[in-house]
Amino acid sequence: MSDSLKILTQSIKAKAIELGFDLCGIAPVRESCFKEQFREWLEQGYAADMTYMKREPERRLNPSLVMPATKSIVVVAKNYYTEVPENFPPDSARFARYALNEDYHNVMKKPLQELLRFIEENNDHKVTGKIYVDTGPLLEREIAQLAGIGWFGKNTMIINTRKGSWFLLGELLLDIELPPDTSAIGGCGTCTRCIDACPTGAIVRPYVVDSRKCISYLTIENREEIPASLAERMGNRMFGCDICQEVCPFNIRHALPTKDPDFQPRPHIHNHKLTELAMISDEEFRDLFRKSPVKRSKRKGLARNCAAALLLRK
Ligand code: SF4
Ligand code: SF4
Repeated sequence: MSDSLKILTQSIKAKAIELGFDLCGIAPVRESCFKEQFREWLEQGYAADMTYMKREPERRLNPSLVMPATKSIVVVAKNYYTEVPENFPPDSARFARYALNEDYHNVMKKPLQELLRFIEENNDHKVTGKIYVDTGPLLEREIAQLAGIGWFGKNTMIINTRKGSWFLLGELLLDIELPPDTSAIGGCGTCTRCIDACPTGAIVRPYVVDSRKCISYLTIENREEIPASLAERMGNRMFGCDICQEVCPFNIRHALPTKDPDFQPRPHIHNHKLTELAMISDEEFRDLFRKSPVKRSKRKGLARNCAAALLLRK
């Protein structure tokens, strides 16, 4: 490995922090170590109706098939943690923290594009790069572990021992071979708090989530009715669910609220009554959730979630 590539790697990491990312690491390019687990997860039906997960699993398990020229992957992580008011009113809708303001795809993509430009300008030959933010066929959490960002918790989130797990991830596939970081090491030990706290029993065993039971899937990706036995356990979580991160001791000890304006809760976001959202019009939905990740569930989905929770809550 040449000195110039080592220097470039250091400057990429420094630039990533300057651009507002909280962590940055370099992953080597290799086939997934979780091939069997991923196939079993699909076979068990745990991907629910997320058909895109089943499409071309080989590509998902091997970054070289996504961009054949890939020689290294820059992984960035951005803290999106914000504090939710204590005594949150049970008749108001609760949104996953990442959905309280701007769509994170845009928030992450712009600085990643800038980072790619920086690499192009600072490398001595032409660079080909591809940006991913939670949309492409990549097992991004495994790649984040390889890049030293964090290790897998039993809730399947990537946990950084000193910072917790409230991170959004982004990747930059590059055709230059940068020196990789050491894979992150750590573990949950005997803790089972997330498994015990999950209201729907979606963490069927450590490191395995059944999406069919997970409130995040049920309230966002799911286009069908929410089964009554699960709807009655959702409480007021109307778009996504943070419970298995909220109870994690690594977050309780280490998470610090982000200062990024794009992740600060929009005014009044915590004041929407379930009864109002159950009846929301298309126009009101568009106005309230402009440029927000909540658009993913569509008005119909959000109204369905609120109606189901109101009818069936325990
Ligand atoms: S997001 Fe919520 S429902 Fe899904 S596994 Fe975590 S605690 Fe359970
Ligand atoms: S709550 Fe406990 S078991 Fe779950 S991810 Fe955190 S440390 Fe691991």
